Amino acid sequence: MIHTAGSSITKLEEKYVMDAVRHGWGAKCYDYLHKFEAEFAKYMGMKYAIATSGGTGALWLSLVAMNIGKGDEVIIPELTYYACSDVVKHVGATPVFVDILPDTWCIDPEDVKRKITKRTKAIMPTDIYGSAADIKALRKFNLPIIQDACEAMGALYYGKPVGAMADTAAFSFQGAKIMVTGTGGMFVTNDKKLYERAEFINDHGESNTKKFWQEEVGYEFEMSNMQAALGLAQLQRLPQLVKKKRQIFSWYKSRLRGNIQLNEPDKNTYSNYWMTSIILHNSIDRDTFMKDLKKRGIDTRPFFYPISMFPIYKEQKTPVAHTICLQGVNLPSGLQLTKKQVNYVCDSILKLFSEYDYKAQY
Ligand SMILES: *Cc1c(COP(=O)(O)O)cnc(C)c1O
Repeated sequence: MIHTAGSSITKLEEKYVMDAVRHGWGAKCYDYLHKFEAEFAKYMGMKYAIATSGGTGALWLSLVAMNIGKGDEVIIPELTYYACSDVVKHVGATPVFVDILPDTWCIDPEDVKRKITKRTKAIMPTDIYGSAADIKALRKFNLPIIQDACEAMGALYYGKPVGAMADTAAFSFQGAKIMVTGTGGMFVTNDKKLYERAEFINDHGESNTKKFWQEEVGYEFEMSNMQAALGLAQLQRLPQLVKKKRQIFSWYKSRLRGNIQLNEPDKNTYSNYWMTSIILHNSIDRDTFMKDLKKRGIDTRPFFYPISMFPIYKEQKTPVAHTICLQGVNLPSGLQLTKKQVNYVCDSILKLFSEYDYKAQY
């Protein structure tokens, strides 16, 4: 089976992790954590980074640090992972779903404008499948931006790391992401107050001066030193990981271009092409297509559903998301993929298109 995801682990990762396992205790118990956070902040060109249990924890911390809660609204795109809507619900606020753009598949600033109310406390854009949300356009609304950059590690927006222009941003190193630590994530900000508040709340609200003295009900979204060792090695190899993802995309593009819509980010974005993705023409049944590929040993993923479609929410009229989410497919994009495998996937896709009697309409 050719899988959709796959990581790249070398001797460097093994070396750091073994060192953390053997020696990362006692006085050295935070060494890799602190190093990982420091190098991450440096990479981002930002002041503060807190390694977390996952991207979800980093998003959650952002909301708590901004004191967002009951009666507040947070704007999120329909096409994202439900980590976004979950954390908004968990702090007692209301997620407000908006449509996406047809080309980048990220949040549509025009629709954001229509959905802003007196209660809106933040915008939570997601950088989806290698595209970057248009933060410059969102900045015009003068609302805090909590960026879900979970999939965007290594991507650039106007030449800066994606996430660097937000008030806070969240990254994920879950096993399918470009950089992995098993599970894990990162919270970043330039704002000292938000950072200090996030640190405090992430330590169960413990007093900064009196050990084991709790001042507020808190959280604990922490990463382990061993995971940080893995993360540090992955961060140091990031250019290599991005290069491979971009190569995979270009292999796909050279074979599929003209037949189907691929993820082409905005011209101001340097994509990490986390997942090469396609939008099937509406004459093709997505489930049949994915099943037919599976028969050939090719694993694919459907796009995330528009979140408002879940019965726990009220379905929104978001025509672009409802079209793209329901016809989108993530192709195998693991870091171990070979050109031969990509060619095999492309051969299979094109063969299926001809079997379905689908003529290129893109
Ligand atoms: C992976 C992902 C997350 C969640 O990350 P975890 O580390 O699994 O908590 C959030 N949002 C998006 C868009 C993601 O792809």
